[in-house]
Amino acid sequence: MEKTVALITGGVGGIGLYLTKALAEEGYHVVAGCRPNSSNAERLAGELAQSHPNVTILPFDVADFGECQRIVLDIEETIGPIGVLVNNAGITKDGTLKKMEPEQWRSVLDTNLDSVFNLCRAVLPKMLEREYGRIISISSINGQKGQFGQCNYAAAKAGMYGFTKSLAQEVAAKGITVNTVSPGYIETDMIKAIDEAIRDKIRRQIPVQRFGQPEEIARAVSFLADKQSGFITGSNLAINGGQYMA
Ligand code: NDP
Repeated sequence: MEKTVALITGGVGGIGLYLTKALAEEGYHVVAGCRPNSSNAERLAGELAQSHPNVTILPFDVADFGECQRIVLDIEETIGPIGVLVNNAGITKDGTLKKMEPEQWRSVLDTNLDSVFNLCRAVLPKMLEREYGRIISISSINGQKGQFGQCNYAAAKAGMYGFTKSLAQEVAAKGITVNTVSPGYIETDMIKAIDEAIRDKIRRQIPVQRFGQPEEIARAVSFLADKQSGFITGSNLAINGGQYMA
């Protein structure tokens, strides 16, 4: 199938922007999802329109099942067939379980895991009809190893693995691959903002002795999104500088 539409949730965020640019540069029309009233979208819309005219920024809430259904139908009708879905939107609301409020749990599960169900469920009928699709979900090293203060986030990210392996089995015979990518510490603005002494401490825990770059996640996503990666499904690609080897 020719390169058509790639839908990337969180497509103008710290890592998402690099995913958006990478797939746009490969010839996809990228629909970059963001939150309603997104300050990232406001800040980047002008620049992206100039540098990557094949990118459409689309605000919608990934946690809302009905909205995801409507957005996907709308993209299929007005932009083109969705060949690639990248579930990248995510949030953290950290706290030890002892003090974690139900809202902290619910919103992190809704945004990080229910969103994967919402979007896969929405894109799947057309992908099955066309017998082609690439679904990539961005999990995390903390979904693999757990992390102090992140029961909610780690549960959501770990949930992606079971979801991915199950869906991969359901759709493998229909030309659709389903995989996860699990980043370690990636040098986004959030990491850059951490005090240098703490950054240094974190860096020393990473065998390659540096943070990952968002381009390195984009490279993996491009690889898995490629038509020629059709024999890779139900897999997880860990990109963490050797910090956790599972
Ligand atoms: P950012 O916070 O920069 O980006 C997250 C994106 O998700 C934002 O673009 C945001 O939209 C979007 N988003 C959040 N909630 C919603 C919602 N309800 N509806 C629609 N969009 C939403 O984080 P990163 O770029 O760092 O992270 C991207 C992914 O990578 C996440 O899934 C994260 O868990 C994962 N990850 C990141 C690591 C890192 O070191 N940075 C390490 C491991 C995993 P908006 O632009 O409008 O704010």
